[in-house]
Amino acid sequence: MERRLFTLAIAPIVALASAQGQKSSEEITSFEIKQHVQFLASDSLDGRLTGTEGNRRAAQYIASQFERFGLPPVPGQSYLQEFEFVQQVRLGQQNSFVLATGTGPEEASVDKDFRPLGFSTNSSVEGNLVFAGYGISAPEKGYDDYENADVSGKIVIVLRYSPDGTNPHGELQEFSSLRNKARYARDRGASAVILVNGELDDPDDDLIPLRYDHSMAASGLPIIQAKRKIVEGILEAVGQDLRSIQDTINGTRRPFSFPIAKNVKVSLTTDLEQIRGKSANVAGFLEGGKAQNDDVLVIGAHFDHLGHGGEGSGSLSPDEDAVHNGADDNASGTAGLLELAQFFVGQRDYLKRSILFLAFSGEELGLLGSSYYVQHPLLHLENTIAMINMDMIGRLQESRKLTVYGTGTSSRWENILTKENRISEHDSLFALSFIADGFGPSDHSSFYGKNIPVLFFFTGTHNDYHKPSDDWDLLNYGGEENVLRYVQKVAENILQTDERPDYVNVPSSSSRGDARGFRVTLGIIPDYGETPNGMKVGGVRAEGPAAKAGMLGGDIIVKMGGKNVLNIYDYMAILGELKAGDIVEVEVLRNGNRIELSATMQKR
Ligand SMILES: [Zn+2]
Repeated sequence: MERRLFTLAIAPIVALASAQGQKSSEEITSFEIKQHVQFLASDSLDGRLTGTEGNRRAAQYIASQFERFGLPPVPGQSYLQEFEFVQQVRLGQQNSFVLATGTGPEEASVDKDFRPLGFSTNSSVEGNLVFAGYGISAPEKGYDDYENADVSGKIVIVLRYSPDGTNPHGELQEFSSLRNKARYARDRGASAVILVNGELDDPDDDLIPLRYDHSMAASGLPIIQAKRKIVEGILEAVGQDLRSIQDTINGTRRPFSFPIAKNVKVSLTTDLEQIRGKSANVAGFLEGGKAQNDDVLVIGAHFDHLGHGGEGSGSLSPDEDAVHNGADDNASGTAGLLELAQFFVGQRDYLKRSILFLAFSGEELGLLGSSYYVQHPLLHLENTIAMINMDMIGRLQESRKLTVYGTGTSSRWENILTKENRISEHDSLFALSFIADGFGPSDHSSFYGKNIPVLFFFTGTHNDYHKPSDDWDLLNYGGEENVLRYVQKVAENILQTDERPDYVNVPSSSSRGDARGFRVTLGIIPDYGETPNGMKVGGVRAEGPAAKAGMLGGDIIVKMGGKNVLNIYDYMAILGELKAGDIVEVEVLRNGNRIELSATMQKR
């Protein structure tokens, strides 16, 4: 694609003279895009994990580029908008596990003999034990460890994994997650869970590392893993053998649950502390030279990535401890943000509206930076007329396929996008793919949840996505330059048209993006921020079951279908049990009041 084809669409913004050969030009160039990407995706930034030094250096780089371009911060603010988040959990001082088998108490030592799981609730419990096999309840698969076990008020011992072992394709695999095991026990009134590795599955019997999963609301009961020798000791005291029990269950695929004699007692205290970290969004504000009011267009991209990866990080190569450079995800979008900022600074005098350039942190951990921003906006959200997001725009293929999300969120979007894509009567820049939905897995979602029209540009996923191999040498810089010139023209159209883009709540039926694999939908978008004891609703889709039931963004779902919802895992599990047409009672907290709603589930 030749550059001269990209003439500026809207007078009086004038095309800039070519600045080839200059060190830094106001023009959007593949050369400068590459320079930004090479820095952001270099090993020295260590994968830009939120809360780390590499992430701070990326933020500093963006701020210093803004300054170099002559783009100031929002008046009265600095470039950095700091926010706190839960970074990790660590063991507190109070963890204890004391076992009495009739021969006097034995105290196990934390981190050596037992360890709480990262999503355990902090609590102290004491009581008798029930052995409950694998702790799986899947009657639909003909298997239920709780079928004949009364665990109310008891501490349950369960094996890790399932009768299918560690086979990821086993029939009971989806029921055997640690979150599910905690929930099955909790829903049956158990007071705590002791997890143990069967000899068949994990001969080494390592304790699960303490890890914070970032979608954490606690499990609602204490859950620890104990070393096998401790559980073997308990079972021996009542004449049972763990290995033979496991053989029996696996062989027969029948549950083998039983109460453990009353003289065996356990007292258990779990104590986890949350370590809070800090990170920052970076904001630069360009006041339009011809601005008549406070209208502002937000252009955004996240700059954080996955650090060194590892289990639970979102890496798709979790066994590898390697820097995840995140060149496409999302050094590409960040470089785009910088190039657009530099370009528009040069156009300041002509702009009829202002632009806020926002580089987000915490995206990979659950849109932390953008949800913080919409809750603590630097400029009034009522004046934010639209939000343009760029996340992964560096891998344009030969097909020139460019996906745009949010195209249904304003009635004007499709016209603008189509018009600016046209080169001549017969030719277009991109093969555009439109997705109406304004909710999706990147930062525009936070803005759409606040009733702001959004557009999200994306060149598509690829084999290096969320892997250490997503590196700078695989990007199509010429392609990204074209994408940015297109985004620039779309932005100009929005900025220079007198009328504000209207906001449209995209109907549930034409949208995608609820958790996959469910037969039914409630028509809500979860909020992944911190919500103790419940699941917070980030947004409600128009005409969906939740909207019809009267649910609002900001509601916290605490009960559904008569079952407690303490976290998103509970919610998903209940959703998985429902079918279209089911009427489900949902209890929500709104401004501290409990409200009962009734929703009719729809087919996805
Ligand atoms: Zn990502």
